[in-house]
Amino acid sequence: MPLVYFKNSSQTIPVHSTFCIGRNYKEHAAELQNPVPQKPLVFIKPLNTITYSGQSIILPKMSRDVHHEVEVVVVIGKSGKNILAADAPDFIAGYGIGIDVTARDIQQVAKEKSHPWTVAKGFDTFAPISSFVEASEIPDPGNLDFQLSINHKLRQQGNTRDMIFPISELIAYLSTIFSLSPGDLIFTGTPEGVGPLQEGDRVQAVLDEHLAELNMLVIKESGGI
Ligand code: ZN
Repeated sequence: MPLVYFKNSSQTIPVHSTFCIGRNYKEHAAELQNPVPQKPLVFIKPLNTITYSGQSIILPKMSRDVHHEVEVVVVIGKSGKNILAADAPDFIAGYGIGIDVTARDIQQVAKEKSHPWTVAKGFDTFAPISSFVEASEIPDPGNLDFQLSINHKLRQQGNTRDMIFPISELIAYLSTIFSLSPGDLIFTGTPEGVGPLQEGDRVQAVLDEHLAELNMLVIKESGGI
């Protein structure tokens, strides 16, 4: 069972569900020629996707175009259903940085056929997460810079103030559908600048002034057919 680790404490929480939000930044929706959604677009990643800083992102043989999507990740700290946006901060245990790794070619075919994104988003290692910062240490989650670099070149840069649906609204919306539980992760969407990962790339994702950090090496799947 993968765990959520915290930076300044020995607390851990087993990862429960991993919810992801698509198209939550206007410029990213535009770069993939997608309309801006009227309500949050939600999908789920299975537990096998979770991996950690210092480990590898594995490029699966089934895809020739695996993309990085850097995202602020929220971890839920207590159970709730039908949570009001105003109360949402009480349910957040912490914030981290993650990458919603996406097999873009497989996703494109799925979009064209109106199939689910589970395969495109669900390969092993497709959800690297950092250690988390406790919510009490983040005074304004609505103004967090974050970025992703590959081989020291900046590729994506965002700020949570540009979200179409802010974190509190995401929690309120998700909790009308799913009972939220401690250890639920919410990948809150990616800003523009998504692009391919290549074997040997060194990927660094950073939340604000190095509040949280993720360092990954990209490798190819080995063995099998
Ligand atoms: Zn994403």
